[in-house]
Amino acid sequence: MDSRRGFFASLASLAVGKGKEKGPFHPLLPGFIAENSQNCLTCETSACKNICEEGIVVREGTASPYLDFSRKGCTFCGECSAACEQNCFIAEPVKTLSARVEIGILSCLAWNKTICRSCADVCNDKAIQFTGLFNPEIDPEACTACGFCIGVCPAYTITVTSKDTR
Ligand code: SF4
Ligand code: SF4
Ligand code: SF4
Repeated sequence: MDSRRGFFASLASLAVGKGKEKGPFHPLLPGFIAENSQNCLTCETSACKNICEEGIVVREGTASPYLDFSRKGCTFCGECSAACEQNCFIAEPVKTLSARVEIGILSCLAWNKTICRSCADVCNDKAIQFTGLFNPEIDPEACTACGFCIGVCPAYTITVTSKDTR
């Protein structure tokens, strides 16, 4: 993505507060079928939460589970899907989440002339591109929305939102 275009697009998004109208966005587990979420009401094992080695699955009460990227991300290992006994997941393997991950350029260190590559260092998909040492941008075509970059950012400026908020 062109840096100047990305810069102004991010500013425009901030100016109108897009993506923040409905409260925090909670990404669904990979392959989770939203229409089957009522199946979770009778699940007493929380198998998806308990089997996740990354510890990113959150489940409160009988609610449907969601992902918390504040410390780690999703490896798309498929263990949560395989462990579910309530028919909540599609059968096919899933390697990307339907979510948008973005860098907030106003707070990003590297957008403010301080060297930082923490996000890029953990991105296995090489989806974060810098212009020289600065101005990182996430390529939405390469980003799987795994979330690993979010928790490592020292400026807490990487966000995940629904793809449907625009
Ligand atoms: S795919 Fe693996 S890492 Fe991702 S939420 Fe499920 S169990 Fe956790
Ligand atoms: S930029 Fe996308 S693919 Fe790379 S670590 Fe962040 S969420 Fe994962
Ligand atoms: S880790 Fe955060 S502060 Fe550092 S370059 Fe990435 S987005 Fe910017």
